[in-house]
Amino acid sequence: MRIAIVADVHSNLDALETVLRHAEEQKALEQVWCLGDTVGYGPEPNACLALLRRYNALTVPGNHDLAAIGLLSTEDFNPDAAAAAAWTALQIVPDERTYLENLPHVVRQGEFTLVHGSLRWPIWEYLYTPEVALAHLELQETPYSLVGHTHVPLLVKEDQGSPDGCLMNYLEDGTALELRDRRLVINPGSVGQPRDGDPRTSYAIYDDEARTVTVHRLEYDIAATQQKMAAAGLPAWLIRRLSRGR
Ligand code: ZN
Repeated sequence: MRIAIVADVHSNLDALETVLRHAEEQKALEQVWCLGDTVGYGPEPNACLALLRRYNALTVPGNHDLAAIGLLSTEDFNPDAAAAAAWTALQIVPDERTYLENLPHVVRQGEFTLVHGSLRWPIWEYLYTPEVALAHLELQETPYSLVGHTHVPLLVKEDQGSPDGCLMNYLEDGTALELRDRRLVINPGSVGQPRDGDPRTSYAIYDDEARTVTVHRLEYDIAATQQKMAAAGLPAWLIRRLSRGR
């Protein structure tokens, strides 16, 4: 079975459709796993939620999802993110609200655990330092886990012999990462708002027979998304950053 793993879609329907089309060509739509922040920042929150629900995506919520339904204060958001969250909250239709309200914050599926941030603080914590990675790994009861939130594709390998207790590597486009006995944390990057300097959409495919996870970067129609954001009156910086991948 081949499974599409998406994270941080952020209401970017053009990017999500590009990813799902590619996943279909790769025969990787038997399941879809979603690591949260399906909404926030972008122009089409309900359409993104509806599309993922159509694939019965196994989903955990992120901070922007909870902010959009009033379950999380935007006090700690930067002003542009807070403005986009306020706009998103006005758009969300009742069905999608109920759906978001009922998502479990951590999901275990076979050998994987799915969470948006970290297992220590599922909604909020950014997993990008060895310290956070180790705290996360201590709580990880499955061999592998999948996280989002930082918008940067990343591999963490547990390694007792290394000074930090783990090795952290940026995950390049097309690298087929082999699942072996070492415990891992994998971030597939962001579908809707990449922040690693590469504006292409990012997602991963898990192949349970080959036992690999592969990150894919794809061009999508950034200008179309930016036009929809401008029409919705979303903050200019959020529109600009999509072209820069920052
Ligand atoms: Zn996010």
